[in-house]
Amino acid sequence: MTQVVTRFAPSPTGHLHIGGARTAIFCWLLARHFNGRFHLRIEDTDLLRSKQEYTDSILASMRWLGLDWDGELTYQTQRTDIYNAYVDRLLETGHAYWCSCTPEAVEAMREEARAKGLKPRYNGCCRNRDLGPGEGHCVRLKAPLSGKVVFDDLVKGKIAVDVSELDDMVIRRADGMPTYNMAVVVDDHDMGITHVIRGDDHVSNTPRQILIYEALGLPVPRFGHVPMILGPDRQKLSKRHGARAVIEYQQDGLLPQALVNYLVRLGWSHGNQELFTPAELVEFFDGGNLNPAAAAFDPAKLEWCNAHFMREMPLADLAALTAPFVEQAGLGK
Ligand code: GLU
Repeated sequence: MTQVVTRFAPSPTGHLHIGGARTAIFCWLLARHFNGRFHLRIEDTDLLRSKQEYTDSILASMRWLGLDWDGELTYQTQRTDIYNAYVDRLLETGHAYWCSCTPEAVEAMREEARAKGLKPRYNGCCRNRDLGPGEGHCVRLKAPLSGKVVFDDLVKGKIAVDVSELDDMVIRRADGMPTYNMAVVVDDHDMGITHVIRGDDHVSNTPRQILIYEALGLPVPRFGHVPMILGPDRQKLSKRHGARAVIEYQQDGLLPQALVNYLVRLGWSHGNQELFTPAELVEFFDGGNLNPAAAAFDPAKLEWCNAHFMREMPLADLAALTAPFVEQAGLGK
């Protein structure tokens, strides 16, 4: 069997939250279970919202949770030339084309489709015009005109999407920057990723990414889309539910092994077992038993988990961890 290689690819537009942390834990466990590799990639192409302080904070949270990564960190902003080399390859092989349609023209096409009750889409206007580069020209993938994109999701099972749902997507913007889907495919291929585990907010990107892999003639990795974590009321999780950034739990004095254990069980099971040693998690987590139904966040269970790990801990270790909190409360000495 080829070596399992996974990655976690956060966008540094905020601190690491529990949803992202759970994805990272799943990716890390899968790699460690199979003696594979786990990579970390910083998706910092949103120049306005990405901040170095968030990258630093995400890395600190990963370390605190015990999620060590292999090799160097990758930053997407440092790889534009590599992405564009792949776009050039698609142009050369006839799998992509230059498009001169303005954003307004594309919006009008979408509107026209909507008016006919069809899915809004680019109408392929420049597909056979044989244009070259030029001011305001983007590059689009020449998607197949018929057929289905099918993949077997590790969490959701078989997913099939008709290509008529996917128009000729932009892979390089008019400003010369690659689009998100293009960059992710190039990175995942270059990093040798075999399993892409991520939040299911990305599931609609996957058929598009598969079309890019196929156009480039590259092997397609396995995908697993994990459902979102919901609030206790099964609505979108919010601060009101006590769902915060990992760093806030750390500041509150929660034990990292408790947060890891709690988050792993939100969407994964091993029989009826609730509490695991770190070694057991690595031993039991093989990418199976991931629940396709969204799990609800339960602060009381997290506390229960934490209490367990506190009781398990040698008293001297617990006292050492407690010391800074005692100091901070002005109760030292
Ligand atoms: N950067 C994306 C995010 O933070 C993840 C994309 C991916 O895992 O493919 O949502």
